[in-house]
Amino acid sequence: MAQRDSAVRLTLVPLDNAPTPLVKKVAARLRRIVPWTIKTSPPLTCQPCGNQQGQVDARDVLLLLPEGEWHNILTVGITDYDLTVPRLDFVYGHAMPERRTGVVSLHRLQSVSGSPAARQKALLERACKEVLHEAGHVLDLVHCQDFTCVMHYSQTLHDTDAKRCAFCPKCLIDLSRMPENVDPDR
Ligand SMILES: [Zn+2]
Ligand SMILES: [Zn+2]
Repeated sequence: MAQRDSAVRLTLVPLDNAPTPLVKKVAARLRRIVPWTIKTSPPLTCQPCGNQQGQVDARDVLLLLPEGEWHNILTVGITDYDLTVPRLDFVYGHAMPERRTGVVSLHRLQSVSGSPAARQKALLERACKEVLHEAGHVLDLVHCQDFTCVMHYSQTLHDTDAKRCAFCPKCLIDLSRMPENVDPDR
């Protein structure tokens, strides 16, 4: 029997009004960081219902995304909606590992000061970190104590800016223990 391909395959999905060029830039940047196959899909219309504050429940968006078929096949949506989950004021992103899906919101990743070019650069960098973070959760990684690791929990933009767009050595070891990397014959 042919061995199952163990490479991670990540599809980024621009949702509703999320800018596709930015999503493509996120894919291009992440391809230089992780050895994964990363593609972008055409925009997906999801139009979830917002609450009274105009916020959208991240889980509603996740249920609209196509499910990954296998552990290493993931989908991460990128949206402009301000996302929330119960008991939190807002979230930068959320993941449903059981569906192999994650979602990231650009809404609170934007800078309010600086030149347009600097703001765009900061938004791209933060979006890359949050996408890698949610993809990490889909791959069963938990929050990391190392504040420079992309799996560190971001409560503020300061936290997001402090971490690198990369997994720390400990998280890389955890990733290497994914089911598809474990030889079933051993
Ligand atoms: Zn997290
Ligand atoms: Zn880590």
